[in-house]
Amino acid sequence: MRGFAMLGPGTTGWIEKERPKCGPMDAICRPLSLAACTSDIHTVYENALGPRTDMILGHEGTGEVVEVGSLVKDFKPGDKVMVAAITPDWNSVAAQGGFAMHSGGMLAGWKFSNIKDGMFAEFFHVNDADGNLAHLPEGMDVGVAAMMSDMIPTGFHASELAKVEYGDTVCVIGIGPVGLMGVRGAVLRGASRIYAVGTRPNCIEVAKKYGATEIVSYKDGPLDKQILELTKGQGVDKVIVAGGDCDTFDEALKMLKAGGIIGNVNYIGKGDYVKIPRAEWGVGMGHKTITGGLMPGGRRRLERLASLITTNRVDPSLIITHRYDGLDKVEDMLQIMHDKPIDLIKPVAIINW
Ligand code: NDP
Ligand code: ZN
Repeated sequence: MRGFAMLGPGTTGWIEKERPKCGPMDAICRPLSLAACTSDIHTVYENALGPRTDMILGHEGTGEVVEVGSLVKDFKPGDKVMVAAITPDWNSVAAQGGFAMHSGGMLAGWKFSNIKDGMFAEFFHVNDADGNLAHLPEGMDVGVAAMMSDMIPTGFHASELAKVEYGDTVCVIGIGPVGLMGVRGAVLRGASRIYAVGTRPNCIEVAKKYGATEIVSYKDGPLDKQILELTKGQGVDKVIVAGGDCDTFDEALKMLKAGGIIGNVNYIGKGDYVKIPRAEWGVGMGHKTITGGLMPGGRRRLERLASLITTNRVDPSLIITHRYDGLDKVEDMLQIMHDKPIDLIKPVAIINW
């Protein structure tokens, strides 16, 4: 089969590989839609996970099942499915402990385009199919459903990590597609004021539509100073981090009230240490929690989050700015994700076989 791969650090290209084999609990799918992710850019161009050779990229999309293993109960060839970017081993001790995304080791629930071939190919392999696939809801556009792989579950996970509650004031640092879903997730969990940090006009427009009440630019000076000014020195209850770098935690801690929580979903591609300011961390006693997490995967979560689309609680079509036609276009899609033109939020490719 043909696939678009990371050939080595900083290089990509089309390669030929054997079609993956289907184990008893697995499924083999053909992609129906695919999306490129900022994480692919960190992985390929920042060597953020370490070197990878001839690894097919892509972890966001939908598929049509072409083969299932003998133990798979709920899926059959011809079924159209949503597929999460994170596909844990549900029969693992880590899953029993509530951290399925780390089954097999830290981050090892993230298999596609990390520790095995991803979805940018004629076929892709899904482990533990009954636990990791979900039926595509009737009538749902496959482009929209591709946002179910990563953007919605990750953005929403940020507000779960930050434990956003009714009435919380929240700062969402970064309003690319992930942060935008962070805004929407915070709204659905009951946030009051939401300060959204970003500069791209399209993103700002969608942030407002999703419920951001104020927009802040990191180009206008330190974020903590701006947020403290806007909140009359109070700071915010929660911070969601979906952009920035190692220094962002410095700003996030400085704008956070005592007892507050930072929920990070940013994939920090560079640098050795994140910065924690001693004094503003309450000299170690401020009850300011810093937490960060890989999105959880799993069928139950896919089904529950998809129900927020079908009941119009979240409209992911607002973040899709670029649509491509055909598998060949994943190359262009990755390139645009790398170049990040000002009008880009999220690209998606539709594949008609
Ligand atoms: P984008 O690059 O589209 O968005 C990044 C956002 O951060 C933009 O709004 C950008 O502003 C803003 N930003 C850039 N620099 C700074 C800065 N110095 N301070 C504050 N904000 C800044 O990324 P995505 O939304 O696609 O992804 C966000 C992150 O989430 C990525 O690191 C990605 O790899 C990661 N991720 C993590 C997952 C997980 O499971 N935890 C899953 C998927 C993705 P501007 O408007 O100016 O561009
Ligand atoms: Zn992704």
